[in-house]
Amino acid sequence: MTEERPTPTAESDAAAMRDLRALLGLHRGAHAESVVRAVQALTERRLGAVLTEAHRVATSKGWHAGADWTDPQRQLAGLMLIATEIAEAAECVRVGHLSPMQGAGGKPEGLPSELADVVIRLGDFAGAMGIDLEAAVIEKQAFNRTRSHRHGGKLA
Ligand SMILES: [Mg+2]
Repeated sequence: MTEERPTPTAESDAAAMRDLRALLGLHRGAHAESVVRAVQALTERRLGAVLTEAHRVATSKGWHAGADWTDPQRQLAGLMLIATEIAEAAECVRVGHLSPMQGAGGKPEGLPSELADVVIRLGDFAGAMGIDLEAAVIEKQAFNRTRSHRHGGKLA
């Protein structure tokens, strides 16, 4: 069933843009490009909440008790835990488990779940290292948007 929506008019579009600018805290005359950038920033900030929560949960489950994150060996171990989740994702591809699945006890499994593990491990690692990964992603995405097609002709 589809919802009946009124046909947009120039007036309703203008009203929607006014509301959107107000929601985003932009001034009334803010250009559409500023609105787009503000929405992009909001979307990217959702990532920060996910990453922060990953570190909070891992800490609450005791995974950081007594850990010395200034120790390069601990840092390398943390990075390798991210790599193990990438390996689990690769194994899902190898055996064709590309869709969400449920394992014993309702445990999420399959490629989407392993990709989630990668993000969770990244968030936990960044949190443990005191890295603002959200800010780093936003900065890098902004830079990537300025790069040329295939970064100037690279093949891969
Ligand atoms: Mg996993």
